[in-house]
Amino acid sequence: MDKEKEQRQIPFIWIAFGTLFALLVINFYIFSSAPSEQISYSEFKKMVEEKKFNEVIIEPNLVKGIIKEKDKIKEVKAVKVDDPELIKLLEKNNIKFSGKQADTWLRDLLLAWVLPIIILILVWRFLFGRLGAGTGMMAVGKSKAKIYIETDTGVTFNDVAGVDEAKEELKEVIDFLNHSEKYLRLGGKIPKGVLLVGPTGTGKTLLAKAVAGEAKVPFFSMSGSEFVEMFVGVGAARVRDLFAQAEQKAPCIIFIDEIDALGKARIAAPIGGGYEEREHTLQQLLVEMDGFESKKGIIIMAATNRPEILDPALLRPGRFDRHILVDRPDIKGREDILKIHTRNVKLSSDIDLRIIAARTPGFAGADLANVVNEAAILAARKDKKAVELSDFEEAINRAIAGLEKKKKVISKKEKEIIAYHESGHAIVAESVPNADKVHRVSIIPRGIAALGYTLQLPTEDRYLLTKAELLDRLAVLLGGRVAEEVIFNEISTGAQNDLERATAIARSMVVEYGMSDTLGPVTFETGKKPMFLDIGYTPTSEFSDETSRLIDEEIKKIINETHGRVKKILENKKDKLTTLGKLLIEKEVIEGDELRKILSTNI
Ligand code: ADP
Ligand code: MG
Ligand code: ZN
Repeated sequence: MDKEKEQRQIPFIWIAFGTLFALLVINFYIFSSAPSEQISYSEFKKMVEEKKFNEVIIEPNLVKGIIKEKDKIKEVKAVKVDDPELIKLLEKNNIKFSGKQADTWLRDLLLAWVLPIIILILVWRFLFGRLGAGTGMMAVGKSKAKIYIETDTGVTFNDVAGVDEAKEELKEVIDFLNHSEKYLRLGGKIPKGVLLVGPTGTGKTLLAKAVAGEAKVPFFSMSGSEFVEMFVGVGAARVRDLFAQAEQKAPCIIFIDEIDALGKARIAAPIGGGYEEREHTLQQLLVEMDGFESKKGIIIMAATNRPEILDPALLRPGRFDRHILVDRPDIKGREDILKIHTRNVKLSSDIDLRIIAARTPGFAGADLANVVNEAAILAARKDKKAVELSDFEEAINRAIAGLEKKKKVISKKEKEIIAYHESGHAIVAESVPNADKVHRVSIIPRGIAALGYTLQLPTEDRYLLTKAELLDRLAVLLGGRVAEEVIFNEISTGAQNDLERATAIARSMVVEYGMSDTLGPVTFETGKKPMFLDIGYTPTSEFSDETSRLIDEEIKKIINETHGRVKKILENKKDKLTTLGKLLIEKEVIEGDELRKILSTNI
């Protein structure tokens, strides 16, 4: 739709130019149909006397003499002088003469109207063309939603820090873009869609560009949010266009930023305004993704900070089935990011970026870039020769004030609580016999949900769990809350999710798996769970109030017993808990091996 309009727009310029050219040519033939020579009036008069002319034409400003020589026609003209004698002279010499109105209306029209209009159009197009596209980019289309094509993003992995794991995973994508034959020869299946997931400002857009930069392939990008406001059909056409163009430039990367705006789950969409178009665009995206062969070396990347609202259709195999977490950086990562952003900033010698990194827990890459910029501005305002630590302090304080409004910063006290809470999970996980090994403990807020996390990796796939294993899982979940009790003698709301999950496990043990001693090996869960619907399902209970009370009691008993067991473990290892908590406050992330070393040494 819009594309057709475009095609009409561009030729218009050529039509205008063509018309102008044609008019000039016509003009030329009308006003100077024969080669003419300009002479002085006296010479002209002399030629009349000498009967050189076959005919003379008298115009308001010009006199022209026509000379016919065999089959050639020559024209001689002179600027007219007010000379009544000329007519007499012509009559005397018997030369045919005629008066003529100057035929300049065409030229006047051209100069006064057509030319200015054409110049205006050119200026207008030039200005708007510039507004739409930045340097090095070419914007297709005129509406707000644009497809940007960058042949070279100029960004490499050296410009991104603190997201080492994401980088590691993306290296595979780069290798594929550069050596797709290698993968295809072995019959390997290449990821088509890669979804970058993480909080805002962690560098998702930057990473996508860096992948293109590292692989040295063109980068096609569009932003989901821009596509929502468009007229029906336009978004879908753009998507089609995007893929068609990308196919010609393969290997390349197509990047869809803020895909959540486009790919909200369809049921959650409001009926009416804004809904239809998004639906169409999303549908087209799915069609295109299914339609193209990854053989060609096109990788589609997308970014979102709200993966939970995405339409499940987008996440299906063959679409965005590869998810890469781009998390907030830890202290080391923040130092590295600061290093990148201070490359071109003059720092005073009192600055240790490590200290600045330590003061900015929870900051994402974009927040840190802002802090550096703000500090530089503050220093410049004070006419300093270099940026000092005090400038950074002020900039950090400002940033924190801003972030606090958005509830993104954790206070020092909160950080402590989270550190001991996570230490609790980790120590219990390493102390009970049937829990998965701890892979990593972290107190960096994870974008989605939890404040900190303890990552356990199962050593094998499990389909059956024994009662002892379930109880140990329960213990690990309670470890966080119990650590808070042991260290602070008070509890926080941070364990809510843990407790929910713990209760769910205990409940399943009683009502589903028949693992309760009091109630015996009976399952109380009837009604079949709808297989594909996880939300809004409440199991139907077909037992008496008395049984229901017994179930609740059993659940409570299981949890209380486990709680007691966990408390004993952590009280026995209070020194380890303190050590680990302190270390976690300092380092923010502790790997599993390091944790086990701490636990096995005697302090
Ligand atoms: P997102 O897309 O995740 O919201 P962006 O990629 O738009 O974040 O990041 C915005 C800016 O913040 C980047 O252009 C860069 O200057 C800075 N930035 C963010 N994350 C990082 C990082 N990990 N390393 C270096 N700079 C970063
Ligand atoms: Mg972004
Ligand atoms: Zn917890």
